[in-house]
Amino acid sequence: MADVQTQNASGTVYDLFAGLESTDHEQIVFCQDNHTGLKAIIAIHNTVLGPGLGGTRMWTYAHEKDAIRDAMRLSRGMTYKASVAGLNLGGAKAVIIGDPSKHKSEALMRKFGRFVENLSGKYITAEDVGTTTRDMEYVKMETDHVVGLPESMGGGGDPSPVTAYGTYMGMKASAKAAWGNDSLEGKAVAVMGVGKVGMHLLELLHKEGARLYVSDINESNLKAAGHYGAIPVSGDDMIDLDVDIFAPCALGAILNTDTISRLKCQIVAGAANNQLEDETVHGDMIKSRGIYYAPDFVINAGGLINVYSEYTGYVRERAMAQTENIYNTILDIYNLAAEKHINTQLAAIQLAEKRIHDMMRVHSTY
Ligand code: NAD
Repeated sequence: MADVQTQNASGTVYDLFAGLESTDHEQIVFCQDNHTGLKAIIAIHNTVLGPGLGGTRMWTYAHEKDAIRDAMRLSRGMTYKASVAGLNLGGAKAVIIGDPSKHKSEALMRKFGRFVENLSGKYITAEDVGTTTRDMEYVKMETDHVVGLPESMGGGGDPSPVTAYGTYMGMKASAKAAWGNDSLEGKAVAVMGVGKVGMHLLELLHKEGARLYVSDINESNLKAAGHYGAIPVSGDDMIDLDVDIFAPCALGAILNTDTISRLKCQIVAGAANNQLEDETVHGDMIKSRGIYYAPDFVINAGGLINVYSEYTGYVRERAMAQTENIYNTILDIYNLAAEKHINTQLAAIQLAEKRIHDMMRVHSTY
């Protein structure tokens, strides 16, 4: 029998089991249904801390191996995010292969919900790119193991204000580490992307008296940012601005060889996912420029904290209080990075792995 092949994050082709071994994945579930056309992959990376939580992405993958690779890469990221946020959650992620505008239906989402149900709570799903709250309502008809539901269904609603609050706390901790004082009053902050998270972040920064610069490809969002006295800057010019803090709140891979060499800020602290284009290269590069980088999966964990509190009975105040702790975690990461002479991305991963190993030992006795 031929081996099933997939790729790791750097594109190296592996036999499937060798791939799982190299990333230490626990389980991959393939879900197939002829009637609805469902083709989904649920990747469960690590459940030492608790059930694996991660959204369901629907995307037109060119090859099945790309879908497997994406599910594996994203589920591993969820393990670290949940661990470092101090949640009793593991990491998992699902991908559905298909075009959300063409292939999605009530039946397909409910069938997917049946597969989630079959995992008996080992995997908890939520919305992600290509899926919506409405889709999760269909999933909910087949399983209770779904979060990110609207407030009308007992969910936590839009997590963006919580994500923004955590980003703000991480930014203040970065200021404390860089300047010995966490006040952002009078600091020049450039926010790239003023969508759901970026706009809430502006509000918090404006309240504290920061000087704000913003960019966005959406003109109406840019106009709305004027409400907080933010000065609009066009596209790429954001990178070259002489500011104290750069807050990426739009795209991934914004920290790359070109942009890192141009940055003039002392701190990068923003909500966007996967900011480092290649963490094995750009984590060190940003460190060598002397820039304080707050790792994205730590600073933007407010959204995950919010959906997790939904799972345990949603109370927004509790979610906010737990999100506030991002301040201390970011300080711990700067301290660990300085002590070990490593970059902050690596320090955050080590902190996440340490908690998993510690808890493994806790669970080793009856
Ligand atoms: P959003 O879509 O509401 O906002 C993104 C904004 O970025 C939009 O206004 C968009 O026009 C703008 N944008 C896109 N390309 C741009 C560019 N080249 N330059 C400047 N602006 C550009 O998304 P969001 O929910 O605010 O999330 C922002 C980022 O934070 C994303 O990377 C997301 O993955 C991450 N994140 C969000 C949450 C959450 O709770 N919403 C949680 C964790 C991480």
